Formats: sequence, C-alpha cells, structure tokens
Amino acid sequence: MSAAATWSESGPRTVDEHRAAVAALLASSGVETVPLAAAAGRVLAADLTAAIALPPFDNSAMDGYAVRAVELTGASEGSPVELAVSADIPAGRTDVGPLEPGTVARIMTGAPVPDGADAIVPVERTESSDGGAGFGAGGGTGRVRITVAPEKGAFVRRAGEDAAGGAVLLEAGTVLGASQIGLAAAVGRPDLVVRRRPHVLVLSTGSELVAPGEPLAPGQIYESNGTMLAVAVREAGATAEQLSFVPDDVEMFRAALAVRVRDGVDLVLTSGGVSAGAYEVVKDAMTGHGVEFGKVAMQPGGPQGCGRLELGGTTVATVTLPGNPVSSLVSFEVFVRPALRAAAGYPDPDRPVVTARLAGDLSSPAGKRQFRRGVLDATNGTVAEVGSAGSHLIAALARADCLVDLPAETVSAAAGEPVAVWLLGT
Ligand code: AMP
Ligand code: MG
Repeated sequence: MSAAATWSESGPRTVDEHRAAVAALLASSGVETVPLAAAAGRVLAADLTAAIALPPFDNSAMDGYAVRAVELTGASEGSPVELAVSADIPAGRTDVGPLEPGTVARIMTGAPVPDGADAIVPVERTESSDGGAGFGAGGGTGRVRITVAPEKGAFVRRAGEDAAGGAVLLEAGTVLGASQIGLAAAVGRPDLVVRRRPHVLVLSTGSELVAPGEPLAPGQIYESNGTMLAVAVREAGATAEQLSFVPDDVEMFRAALAVRVRDGVDLVLTSGGVSAGAYEVVKDAMTGHGVEFGKVAMQPGGPQGCGRLELGGTTVATVTLPGNPVSSLVSFEVFVRPALRAAAGYPDPDRPVVTARLAGDLSSPAGKRQFRRGVLDATNGTVAEVGSAGSHLIAALARADCLVDLPAETVSAAAGEPVAVWLLGT
C-alpha cells in the first residue's frame, strides 16, 4: 500500500481530475464479429476493404438498348436510325454474346452491357418499329427506331467507378449506420468486426426505495436511478444489466454484487450511499477494498467514488454515483458516459458543446463547477434554466435538453452572458 494521502484527505478533486480517474478504469473494450443487421450504431474495428469492385461489372443505368455509338451518328427525332434488335438482356442474364454489328440489344437497368456495345439509349429515346413509344411487343427481336445520337459511354455504369477492388471503403473507428451497413452488404460481407460494447452492472441502494408499481408506504420513494442509469448506459453505446436495488445493508449489498460480478463485466455502477450520512452502504462496503471516496468540486454530484473493487478474488472497475436522481444522471454524463464511449471506440465520446446566451441571471457557488439544467432555444441562441439548482428535481431534469456548464470560479452570471452548454440530445 502506498503512503500517499487518500482522496478524502487530499481535498476535493476537480471535475477533470475525477473524469481522468474514471476514464483510466476502463480499458479498450475489445472486438467481436456481428451480423450486419446487428451492427447499427456500433464502431467498426477493422478497415472494410472491397472484396469486389463496385459496380462489379459494366452494367446499364437505364431500361433501353445497348448500342454502338458510332452506328447512331446523326440520329435525331427528325431522322431516327432504325436497327435490328438481336438480343434481350434482363438483369442477371449472363449468357449473351458480343453485340452483332448493325444491331442493338434490349437491356434492362442493372443488366451486364454486352461486349461491343459502348452506350445505352434509354427506351424513352426510341420508338418501336410500329411507331409507338416504349418497348415494342417484340422483346429481343424486331427492329427499333432510335431518335438520339448517344455519346460513347452514355448510361453505362463502369465496373469499379464507385470503388476499386481492394480499396478501403470504411476506416476502423467509423460509426456504422444504414448506408455504411448497406455498403458492407454490397461488397458481400455478411458480418462486420466491431468494437465490443462495455458491459455495466447497475445497482441502486437505499432502504427507502420501492419498485415502481408497488404500493408506497409513508417515508418511501420509488426507485428511479436504476432504470434511468441502465437506459443512459445503453444510450451511451454500452450494455447494462440492472440488479434489484438493495437496502442500506452492507452484507446484502456485497452479496448482490458477488453473485453477478464475473468475467465480461467491465464496470459496476452504483447509486446512493456515498455521502456523509450515517448509513452510507456503498462507502461502508467498498472502503478498504479498492474503491476510494471523496468530494469533487462540482454541483450537483459532490460526493463520488471510484476504483477497482476487490471482490471474490477478482477486481472490477467501479464508479459510485450519489443517490439524488439529478446528481446521479449529471455525474453519469460528466464522468461515466465519456469513459464508456472512449472504451467502446467512439470518435466523439463527449457531448457536443455550444455557446449560448443566458436567458436569465444565475448565481453559482464559489469553487464548484456547476451543471444547471437548461432548455436551449436554437432559434435565438439562448438557454433558459429549468427548475433550480436542487439535485432532487427530477421533473425539471426530464424537461431539460442541455446542461449549462458554469466554471468553478463563476459566482454569478447575468442574462445575456455567454455560457457553455452541453447538448443532451441523442
Ligand atoms: P443517498 O445518496 O443515498 O444519500 O441519497 C440521496 C437522496 O437520493 C435521498 O433523498 C434518496 O432517497 C435519493 N435516492 C437515492 N437513491 C435513489 C434511487 N435509486 N432512486 C431515487 N431516489 C434515490
Ligand atoms: Mg441512500
């Protein structure tokens, strides 16, 4: 054991110091192979290279006729050129020989352009030999009048024009959405190698807590942090397993964790029981077992803890959040979300931050970085507080779409002053 002062003896950490301590607990999450449909929202772990060229072969961009451009020099609406139709090529047909000189081949969008043809004339620029518009009744036989002189290459999609075979299509680190997954399928991949999502155990504590749906006795409140944090974990791109909350009882708390901590759990995330009261179950159960507790110079979310919890011969990264719902979720935003996203390889672990002008005056405690809940009006660039500083105000939290980040040295900020705003939208 080192003789260095513990966190609680050395005084409050800054927000950035605690962010770094939490981030250091989470290693890079590893990789796994998932079917394409399961890859949405995941981070690509290895460059995607093109096993085939895109398009894989020269093909028609239109329904019409494959032609030799040189045979149609001078064709126009006023003097159409009439040629024999020598073949019919639907999409997928590959047994067609080279285009016979002096003939054209009827061809559909996506069908291979026959050897010898060098342009496509759209059906709209033709008349069937009976004089009607569109494809005549003859299919791949008969004659067709062409009313345009195509450029060489017109309406031919060239093999490899979108991507050459072997080209890097997507770089490792790309967040996969519909178009990226469509591209992987287009080059024949049934699955992709993606970053594994960190797995988080969520456990709430408090003898006053009751599960939603149950009757509420005097002095009790509904347990809200567990579900809220599990959802926040999933929204951050990790997976969550929500354990049933436990009363303020050290043995029950340790037992609840002991049966669920196993290989593959990347983080234990608790709420409640970490401040200066007499029944701080999380603090009591983890102090001396690898987790340090102390204060962070912020509001809400002053009391915090983190470390590698020693449990049953193993250790597991652990972050202990305070119990007030607003403190819990704001602490998650500030410390846990960026660490989880960085571990999962997201290129943008932090929320976007914009500058907005305050809609009203605010005062803020000296020496503490404060995160007030706000609503941003993007049309005029102002941010208005919802609720007030109280860390129990979950109804106001639910109306907020941003956090107003007031620096530790700020004690007052007047309406119209610019402030940093963290955008919470997904
Ligand atoms: P604690 O951090 O345990 O001292 O709790 C601080 C405040 O948050 C108290 O008012 C608790 O009742 C409340 N609280 C703690 N945990 C939860 C929870 N899981 N859901 C809702 N409120 C909670
Ligand atoms: Mg409690």
